Amino acid sequence: MPTFPAVQPEPALDQPHIPSISENTARDALLLFVKSKCCYSSAPAKDGVITNMEAFNTYRYRLETFTESRSTEWSHEPYTGQTVDAYAQQPPGPWDIPAKTPQFFLDDKQFIKVPYTSSVKPCHNCLGIGRKPCKDCAGAGNVSILHGSCHGQGSRQCDVCKGKQQLLVYIKLTVKWCILMKNYLASLANAIVS
Ligand SMILES: [Zn+2]
Ligand SMILES: [Zn+2]
Repeated sequence: MPTFPAVQPEPALDQPHIPSISENTARDALLLFVKSKCCYSSAPAKDGVITNMEAFNTYRYRLETFTESRSTEWSHEPYTGQTVDAYAQQPPGPWDIPAKTPQFFLDDKQFIKVPYTSSVKPCHNCLGIGRKPCKDCAGAGNVSILHGSCHGQGSRQCDVCKGKQQLLVYIKLTVKWCILMKNYLASLANAIVS
């Protein structure tokens, strides 16, 4: 007579093992929960009698989204002979400009001068002079060198054009990478209660 191997019991795939917890652990967890709510009384958690404990599957999961955003604004810097290319060609749109490849899931920022937007104009702060009258001596240069900020010259270097008299004006593209994070709690208990 042929022999057959004994039938193995099917492993319970849909019911993962849930470790049971002691009554003290449950009470501690309940007290901790009550403490996190400003107006909950701790008396029922402390003095209440636990009559029954049931185990439920609970899943905690986090959703992370990695996004790239782009914005443009007018910007300027002292003109020191940079390329001037405004109107040479139609400027590309913000999403047509190649940016560096981001390191995924790391916050980062990159600034790019938009091509074909750079032009030169006199500094608006010093009206193209490169210097501003000293505020401390009202331009007289008569405040002592120790205390005067202009060293007796009556004027100071313009801090917008850094004394270059002209500015390179261009459209600055800001590329920003950031992570959005959301935490979720899903449990079988919710499904049963609701
Ligand atoms: Zn001064
Ligand atoms: Zn200036």
